[in-house]
Amino acid sequence: MEFKKINEITKEEVDSKVLEANKNRILSKSQMNTYIQCPMKWKFQYIDKLKSKGSPAMWRGIQIHKQIENYYNVENSDISLIPNFLKFEERRLKNCPNENKYLKPIAQELSVKNDDLKIRGFIDAVYINPKDDGVIIIDWKSGKYRPENFSGYRFELAVYSELYRLQTGITPKYWGIYFVDHDKLFFEEVKEISIKAMYKKVKKVRDGIESKNYQCKPSMLCKWCDFNDKCPEWHL
Ligand code: SF4
Repeated sequence: MEFKKINEITKEEVDSKVLEANKNRILSKSQMNTYIQCPMKWKFQYIDKLKSKGSPAMWRGIQIHKQIENYYNVENSDISLIPNFLKFEERRLKNCPNENKYLKPIAQELSVKNDDLKIRGFIDAVYINPKDDGVIIIDWKSGKYRPENFSGYRFELAVYSELYRLQTGITPKYWGIYFVDHDKLFFEEVKEISIKAMYKKVKKVRDGIESKNYQCKPSMLCKWCDFNDKCPEWHL
């Protein structure tokens, strides 16, 4: 194999390598959300590989997910960060038949991936609805419940629902997001229209990434962007 010195590699060669990498890139829901929020932010994080600083809220979110997972698997587990979760369980288990498949999630932190779609993710929990045995995809969130963001919620849930269907051959019947801090549940039947919209959005993101569209998209969120000190559009 022939190796070239760095200064012998042409811009065209670099461009074609980036293009190839972008075509084969496996995207996660959070990668896609970052691209939708701001293509330049996505570039800083995933092409330039600048380290995201993280935040106390992100750390807390991870702990919340862990406590919910342990709630079902570890006796007397720590629930200090998820007191509302007991209310969620109380409502869920009301009138629930005493059968294992209904009492606990049938899967937690389920890794799902599809090579044709080139998307991967983790489903927080999968339950079976005792009413009709329909599969329910659930996501836990520590942030605020925002009715103005229902289309964003449906996009995320449609990604998980399709990955679950493609991986297991079973079509989920319901999806939902439980906002642990506020005891709010976004829950509905799976919407075919949201699945179609998700495919369109994924295509748009992938086309943008493949055509190296890394434009800045300034918004209110720039204030919290980890890379604003490097951004040409950010002014204090
Ligand atoms: S500061 Fe704003 S415009 Fe700049 S990269 Fe971050 S999110 Fe994008």
